[in-house]
Amino acid sequence: MESIKYTLLDFKSESKVKKVLRYIFILGLSMYLGYKDFEIYHLFIELAGSIISFLMAIIALNTYKTNQDNRIIFLGMAFGFVACFDLIHLITYEEIGIIGHNTYNISLQLLIVSSYMKSLSFLISIIFLNKKIDIRYGFFIYLTISILLFISILYLGIFPDCFIEEVGFTPFKKISQYIICGILLLRIIYFLKTSSKDLDITNRHIIYSLVIMITSEFIFIINNDSQGLLSIIGHIFKFLSLYLIYKAIVRTGIQEPNLNLIELNILLDRKNGNLENLVHKLRLKCEEMKRLETENSKKKEILDAILEASDNGILVIGDDNKVIHANRLLMEIWDISRETIYNGDYCELGLVAKQQLKYSEEIRLFAKELGNKKDFNICDLHLKDGRVIEASVLPFIEKGVPTGRIISFRDITQKNKVIELQKQIEIKQALLQKAKEVDEMKNNFFSTISHEFRTPLNIILGVTQLFPFNDNMEMNIDRGTVNKYIKMIKQNSYRLIKLSNNLIDITKIDAGFMKMNFENYNIVSIIEDITLSVVEYSKTKGISIVFDTEIEERIMACDADKLERVMLNLLSNSVKYVEPGGKIEVSIKEKNNMVLIEVKDNGVGIPKEMTEIIFDRFKQVDSTLRRKKEGSGIGLSIVKSMVELHGGSIYLDSEVNKGSTFTISLPIYEVDINNINSTECMSREINVDKINIEFSDIYELSREY
Ligand code: ADP
Repeated sequence: MESIKYTLLDFKSESKVKKVLRYIFILGLSMYLGYKDFEIYHLFIELAGSIISFLMAIIALNTYKTNQDNRIIFLGMAFGFVACFDLIHLITYEEIGIIGHNTYNISLQLLIVSSYMKSLSFLISIIFLNKKIDIRYGFFIYLTISILLFISILYLGIFPDCFIEEVGFTPFKKISQYIICGILLLRIIYFLKTSSKDLDITNRHIIYSLVIMITSEFIFIINNDSQGLLSIIGHIFKFLSLYLIYKAIVRTGIQEPNLNLIELNILLDRKNGNLENLVHKLRLKCEEMKRLETENSKKKEILDAILEASDNGILVIGDDNKVIHANRLLMEIWDISRETIYNGDYCELGLVAKQQLKYSEEIRLFAKELGNKKDFNICDLHLKDGRVIEASVLPFIEKGVPTGRIISFRDITQKNKVIELQKQIEIKQALLQKAKEVDEMKNNFFSTISHEFRTPLNIILGVTQLFPFNDNMEMNIDRGTVNKYIKMIKQNSYRLIKLSNNLIDITKIDAGFMKMNFENYNIVSIIEDITLSVVEYSKTKGISIVFDTEIEERIMACDADKLERVMLNLLSNSVKYVEPGGKIEVSIKEKNNMVLIEVKDNGVGIPKEMTEIIFDRFKQVDSTLRRKKEGSGIGLSIVKSMVELHGGSIYLDSEVNKGSTFTISLPIYEVDINNINSTECMSREINVDKINIEFSDIYELSREY
């Protein structure tokens, strides 16, 4: 829109100087004309007044719809009739001859009527201050009254005279003029009472007009000379009062609506400017949106391409369970068509998946994971065709709020196979390692065993060679030496028997053929007997054995032979690893329905790290062939197995150079005597050979034969 070439100020402000100058000019011109030629002046000024009044009527009638001031419309209409009276007054005053001659009285009558009409109209206009009038009614009333007045003045002659030839002005005229002044004064008083102090231009024009009109009327009252100075001034004032009303009508009927329109125009122009700005901004935004849209569609294409290239089948579902996106691989994995997946919701896929699942309950598990909208969940689905699909559910988050889920399906059949193979490899590697260890253990065992076998065999062989047989097969050595050789052979044979026994036992234990003969014995006497039986042997090494018990007797089920083997093994170990002068203590006590048998020595002890593994087969603190003590390293493993076959346990508490304590705990219970051969508790003899066998490796080392 083009910029406005005019402003509101152009219409509102008019220089006051200009105004005053204009009025002075009119006044001056009027005075000049009045002095020069009163007749022409009168004609001119009355004509001008009538024209202005007519113009008022025309403007009021044509603008009554847009004019907001009802008084002004009414006054405009009324002044139209006033103009008629004034015009005929002029005609009759000038004695133009249309109505007749000597019409000065008629002229004054019309002037009085016109003045009455003017002043009364001013008064009546009060009613229309805040009311919209129908101009037609006013018009017809004024028309009727005007016609009646014209008829009464011009034709009937019943209107009171205002001028009588040779008498002059009648009292009616003077009284009427006073009444007219009074009416106008009344209007001014009312105006001043009701109007606020800050009068607008229209009201100012009205009040000026009223004041000037009163002044004019007053001048006419006091004026006796119809062509004198006062008459000139009175006519000027009369014209001015009409002009001011005309100005008020022009203002309210034409200028103000125009000004409003201009104001509206300016406002619209401003708004238009704002709108243009907005349109510009919107256009920029639109362009930005288009750019973003293109960018987004590009991103979407890239994202789609990435999803399509993914190794996983991907399904994106919204909060309403409708499918937002499904990639090609997803359809391939589940053998489902694009139409099926996009036309339904994810339940469609659920149905298809259920049909293919090997374990139908997996679908429930999957649905449960799907229901969890906050966390990342994963579950495996096993298909009938052997495939394993890993389903992972991820929440789909928009602006921090989960609005759906991303489900990713991965065929992990091959991966699982690889994992399975890896596991098998690991197991096989572990087995291989174990086999290696076993092999190493066996090698150690064989070298130890062969050493164990060879030592007594060498001794036996050596001894037999010492026998000095001559050709007559007679011995030429004394009896004592023979006995000594025989003892050596016997001793080493015991060692071989012990070794063989241990090997046989170990084989039986491994094969699960170790037969237990449970019978009810007094365990205290069994332990005491076996302990006391080795006291003599230990004494020969300078080792004392002490037996102590908290209980006198405890009858319970046990295999006495196996217990003897256990005790002899522990005692022989203690004797083996205790220095001469050392001490071995055997004690028995009862605790929590268990019998605790303790074998304690103050020998070399066993390192802490070996206390657990010392019960493993072939484990020795010093396993080298250079070790100080003989032994195969299987005694304690047999001891442990035998204790466990009793339902008990054995543990070791030891400290290097301080000694070792082996504690056996056995459960107390009795076997049903009906199920065993013996009816009473067994009392047994300890076979001396057994002791010889168990202690055989000690004898050899102590060289006491
Ligand atoms: P071995 O026939 O070698 O004695 P064992 O199984 O009876 O076999 O003992 C295993 C190892 O435990 C022994 O070689 C020895 O090193 C250690 N040991 C067993 N008992 C004792 C003990 N009382 N004091 C010190 N060391 C012992």
